[in-house]
Amino acid sequence: MNLGAHISIAGGVSNIFERAKKISANSIQIFTKNSNQWFSKSYSSEELEKFHRLQNEYSPFSVFAHDAYLINLCSPKTEVEKKSISAFKDEILRCDQLHLPYLVMHPGSHLGQGEEWGLGKIAENFNLILKEIPKCKVIILLETTAGQGTNLGYKFEHLKYILDRVERREKFGVCLDTCHIFNAGYNISTANAYEKTIDEFDRIIGLENLKVFHLNDSKHPLGSRKDRHQHIGEGEIGIEAFRCLMNDKRFSEIPMVLETPKGDDEKNMDIENLRVLRDLKQ
Ligand code: MN
Ligand code: MN
Ligand code: ZN
Repeated sequence: MNLGAHISIAGGVSNIFERAKKISANSIQIFTKNSNQWFSKSYSSEELEKFHRLQNEYSPFSVFAHDAYLINLCSPKTEVEKKSISAFKDEILRCDQLHLPYLVMHPGSHLGQGEEWGLGKIAENFNLILKEIPKCKVIILLETTAGQGTNLGYKFEHLKYILDRVERREKFGVCLDTCHIFNAGYNISTANAYEKTIDEFDRIIGLENLKVFHLNDSKHPLGSRKDRHQHIGEGEIGIEAFRCLMNDKRFSEIPMVLETPKGDDEKNMDIENLRVLRDLKQ
């Protein structure tokens, strides 16, 4: 299984490999910079060299990125939209420098302008960005969201709408977050519900587009449109959904990472949650 977690880059990006080893992860998600800032300084050549050396040493191993939270490719505020475009371009370039295959991103928030307007704007800005950096290697993964406020991406149709309007379709895929789809109203908490939801994903988006899973249980109930992650099996989703996922042969090669609360030094909850997941495998 390609199981792992979102891991902190505190102290430098190369530190992720030691941290991954500590929790026996073989998939890692990272922020390529401080996730609460628009821009950070670029990597030094020493930093990149060290990262690539460890990347080789630790292979086979899947490391991919998640974009910063400030980015909103459909902000109605021109200044924020402009900043988002250039910050997202920077995220893509950072991924390429680190040789990461995927950049997971939240589609955006329309802030009152309407869903269709927002989705169209996002696709438009993707097209603009990829025209400016046509040779970039990373694949952009649209993440399913919980649909808080005016966040887009809480319906499979939203992601499909964007995918249908990007010119470089081969540059895009999807990341499925278990907590988010559940909050958005897609039930997965029984084997039956799980199958129905995966079928619906397949029918609307297509399973071949599914490149990464975020494994999180949820503090809030089905359809609440509120996003708070919980330890595996201890939330409103419950253990059954994760048993289905761990044993679904269609997904045995797909990276799955935790974004659950971390705990402290005394009790590393990533180790705990990964143990719970591995124990589900039959
Ligand atoms: Mn996310
Ligand atoms: Mn997520
Ligand atoms: Zn979330």
